[in-house]
Amino acid sequence: MQEEKLLIIGSGPAGLTAALYTGRAGLSPKVFVGPELGGQISLTWTVENYPGFPEPISGAELVDRLAKQAKRWGATLVTDVVKEVDFTHKPFRIRTTKEEYRTDSVIVTTGATPKKLHIPGEKEFTGRGVSYCATCDGPLFREKDVVVVGGGDSAIEEALFLTKFCKKVILAHRRDSLRATPVLQELAKKNEKIQFLWNTELKEIQGKESIEKVRIWNSKTQNEDTISVHGVFVFIGQTPNTALFEGKLAMTPSGHLIVDERKHTNVEGVFAAGECEDGYFKQIATAVGDGCRAGMEAERFLLRLSEKDIKERR
Ligand code: NAP
Repeated sequence: MQEEKLLIIGSGPAGLTAALYTGRAGLSPKVFVGPELGGQISLTWTVENYPGFPEPISGAELVDRLAKQAKRWGATLVTDVVKEVDFTHKPFRIRTTKEEYRTDSVIVTTGATPKKLHIPGEKEFTGRGVSYCATCDGPLFREKDVVVVGGGDSAIEEALFLTKFCKKVILAHRRDSLRATPVLQELAKKNEKIQFLWNTELKEIQGKESIEKVRIWNSKTQNEDTISVHGVFVFIGQTPNTALFEGKLAMTPSGHLIVDERKHTNVEGVFAAGECEDGYFKQIATAVGDGCRAGMEAERFLLRLSEKDIKERR
């Protein structure tokens, strides 16, 4: 059983920033990397909106820099996945695939996973034309035609954003009415660059080096067709990676962890940051800010735990 002051679960921008701040505070945090170092940004082709980088930077390079900076200040990245948490004991217990840990505090930064279409071509072209973030990848499709899948606020908002760059934005929705709020619907319907395809499901994404076309199916007419596009943007919802915390931390019906403005969860000593608690902004810059807040609050929490408290807990 390893004894720690602070463990960070997840290695996206929120987790690595929390690691940087708590590392600089001398807390030697251990970061459980999880399934992919960097989380969703490692899949992002090019990041053009992260402040301080006037030239585009690849998602992979940004992750590499965040990780290097955290390690330089004493964070340890552990290639392991957390399997079970127990917040009922103090210190808390964390079991990974390899080890068991006891820790005084935890920062949860497990991120979220965009829902996938699960159609042929989606996986192959992810990061090469299939995107789950218009703010990140939209400008790469200047004067190109793209298809957006979904009918909620995200799909409409992102389709509107894409009209700034793209020649045509085809919005394919599986039903004949949108779920998005009326004001967004109105804006989209008035926008001449947006073309709606109702009752339409994507069946396959095709191309060689890059996307050339998508195969679509109309559920009303039962007709199949193909349309030429260069990009596919999928906004059919996101799933926060919080299954591990069900019944252990308070969460919303959508599975987002509930935190206060200082990133405290309902369990004292457990903090959360990034897309596991924020389903709205979904940006690297906001995740970094969230991770900084959680890191600083974890540091303050540990300062308040006196040596005596810590001895009594053990
Ligand atoms: P959402 O509201 O759950 O909408 C998901 C959309 O994707 C729905 O139109 C759904 O179709 C469609 N869909 C789901 N699974 C699909 C599949 N397998 N194939 C094809 N289409 C599929 O998700 P969201 O748009 O990401 O929004 C999430 C939350 O954030 C919402 O509460 C939203 O209001 C909020 N949000 C707010 C704003 C804003 O206020 N500015 C911006 C973004 C998000 P159906 O309609 O047929 O179910």
